Amino acid sequence: MAKKGDLLYAWTTDKGIAEKAELGGAVTGMWKYALEKKMVDAVLVVAKGQDIYDAVPTLITDPNELTRTAGSLHCGTMLLSKILKKYLQGSETMKIGVTVKGCDAMGLYELAKRQQVNLDNIIMIGVNCGGSVSPIVARKMIQEKFEVDPDTVHKEEIDKGQFIIEYEGGHKGISMDELEEQGYGRRTNCRRCKMKVPRQADLACGNWGVIGDKAGKATFVEVCSEKGANLLNGAIKDGIIVSEPAQAKGIEIRAKVEGAMLKLGDKWRARDFGSLGEGRARLKKIVEETSRCIKCYSCIENCPICYCVECSTKKSYLVRPGEVPPNFMFHLIRFAHIADSCVNCGQCEELCAMDIPNSLFMHAQQVELQKMFGHVPGVDMNLPVLALVDEREERDRLSATGSDQIFDIFR
Ligand code: FAD
Ligand code: SF4
Ligand code: SF4
Ligand code: SF4
Ligand code: SF4
Repeated sequence: MAKKGDLLYAWTTDKGIAEKAELGGAVTGMWKYALEKKMVDAVLVVAKGQDIYDAVPTLITDPNELTRTAGSLHCGTMLLSKILKKYLQGSETMKIGVTVKGCDAMGLYELAKRQQVNLDNIIMIGVNCGGSVSPIVARKMIQEKFEVDPDTVHKEEIDKGQFIIEYEGGHKGISMDELEEQGYGRRTNCRRCKMKVPRQADLACGNWGVIGDKAGKATFVEVCSEKGANLLNGAIKDGIIVSEPAQAKGIEIRAKVEGAMLKLGDKWRARDFGSLGEGRARLKKIVEETSRCIKCYSCIENCPICYCVECSTKKSYLVRPGEVPPNFMFHLIRFAHIADSCVNCGQCEELCAMDIPNSLFMHAQQVELQKMFGHVPGVDMNLPVLALVDEREERDRLSATGSDQIFDIFR
């Protein structure tokens, strides 16, 4: 019986899933079991849409529908946590299984702290994540660097430091380092990301450390909670999943790769944050860059920390209505409310109508606040620095007024 802390190789006996899956199909096999046995009412996963650049968040209730959702889409940059909060009532009314990258898991924890999702009703299968590539950048990169028509590519993968494509007529790989030096490759927030193995999920699955005859045919599973152990044990007993202990050498390799990825994250942080300068120079840069803002609210709409019914940026005494670009207070409000909890998911930057590097600005501040207060967002249920503001009083005010604003200091 698997238990919390165990490390093993796992794969599915379901032939259809195994064929479509990334690495043996343990993830999709477990979801099939969970749906069949009604451990969950639905699973929130990602399916291929029109092509490999089109990753579609998909809610599945029929276990026979799951096969098409197997496989990893590295151009799938959406954040499932905000989708689960917005469109699935934060899992309040149904039990949901969700495949999570590190940022998805971190977003779910931050939303749970704000009582916007119910973690008791959620099972998370985590996937290790070396990074994802914006679909627009991927197309450009394949056209310009690989000299291949992006529409002819039917498979992509990131393996041993290379971005590899299969297309009509062949396959090609180019080192990620080379691509990134030239402005292609992973999203900039992913380069700085240090949530490589999402251990705050119930299970953490990936290809690092799978060696020998199982390489490419099984996923490496780390059991991170009792909930995860129950799901895995049930699926093994049912026969849809087979497992064996991970090899000692594989465990060592996985730890080494994870360590190397963390170092790479530090390297990118030093580079990106260094490019912002410090103190007044940093502030000046942020003011200049954000002066392009057209107040489309996309950064707020898609941020997993933002949930307020009445957003302060819409208060006329803080940000003048109808004024574009908005005064800097618009951005200061976001910084003040989000910086201690930012999970560096990249949504505010990727979906910004004006290509403002919002995620870089917020992440740089989050790291500074972490140094000052020690709070690490997205890893557990510890409350952020802002929660030290008289929470009880704020909660009383919220229920008395129905207003869902974090601060109301000018009244
Ligand atoms: P499958 O049965 O094929 O199931 C895969 C699951 O992932 C499905 O539920 C699918 O819907 C979901 N999924 C696909 N794309 C996304 C997406 N973009 N966001 C959220 N969910 C998605 N493992 C490593 O060890 N090192 C890595 O560097 C690494 N990078 C990854 C990067 C990305 C963007 C993704 C999605 C996965 C990455 N993995 C990495 C995990 C690995 O590719 C496999 O997903 C994992 O080993 C499980 O294999 P499987 O055959 O059991 O999964
Ligand atoms: Fe993966 Fe981290 Fe990028 Fe999320 S932010 S897609 S976890 S590398
Ligand atoms: Fe993600 Fe941006 Fe919000 Fe940070 S501020 S959590 S990067 S959307
Ligand atoms: Fe986000 Fe602050 Fe607006 Fe709330 S008030 S939605 S935390 S910017
Ligand atoms: Fe401004 Fe960009 Fe935010 Fe839109 S997404 S409000 S343009 S910073």
